[in-house]
Amino acid sequence: MQRYFLNENAELHQRFFITNKDDIHHMLKVMRYVVGDHIIINFNDMQTFKAEIMNADQKAVEVETVEKLDIQTELPVAVTVASGLIKADKYEWMLQKATELGAHDFIAVQMGRSVVKLNDQKAPKKLERWEKIIKEAAEQSYRQQIPNIKYYSNLKYVYDMIDKYDYILMAYEEQAKEGETSKFKEMLSQLQPNNKVLLLVGPEGGFSEEEVALFETHASIVGLGQRILRAETAPLYALSAISYEIELMR
Ligand code: SAH
Repeated sequence: MQRYFLNENAELHQRFFITNKDDIHHMLKVMRYVVGDHIIINFNDMQTFKAEIMNADQKAVEVETVEKLDIQTELPVAVTVASGLIKADKYEWMLQKATELGAHDFIAVQMGRSVVKLNDQKAPKKLERWEKIIKEAAEQSYRQQIPNIKYYSNLKYVYDMIDKYDYILMAYEEQAKEGETSKFKEMLSQLQPNNKVLLLVGPEGGFSEEEVALFETHASIVGLGQRILRAETAPLYALSAISYEIELMR
């Protein structure tokens, strides 16, 4: 059953109007839902309900919650992917895949070696597009919350927030080249549900020395295996490993 999101608090047998144009288009034109059909809606606080379509036109779809669903699809660890700006199509691909893999939120960072530049004027439009990609991926992958995304014009601003996290991981290609293969795995074995992890990934050209120096004393500087991954692949490797470690049972 198709999933949608509503930014509201919900109770059983409560009615809501879905007014987001893309959602309405998806419901009526793509899925061809009619009155009486059921959908699944994720509300605030990860409350998920089955809902029945009561009325539908081009402006709004009215639904009523008919059953509360006891499901939990979120990755138990909140992973923030703070990665360097890279070419638009690669970054968007990463956002979609990392959302499927359970990333909690994203920070797009203008890094020293980012070839792509984004200025403060252009950022709101980009963020809007990225939010749309993330929302669609969250619906498709049965997530219960939509990862949030921010843009920072310098890695220093990410550094200013490190107190919020339980673990800070800087994926550093030079560590991998030197054969560092134990730190990421060590952190994985310590992870507990509800931990907050900040994952730092460089742009195509990698981290600058200043960026590494900024985090050196506060982060685990880790290798992600022997091969050098593309900037858009590295977050996916890390998220997959975290899911494997804490979600899959023996
Ligand atoms: N151009 C650089 C590679 C950059 S890869 C070079 O040739 O050396 C882009 C980013 O992905 C890196 O900054 C790092 O954060 C991450 N990354 C890729 N492969 C990695 C690995 N094996 N270990 C750790 N981080 C890696």
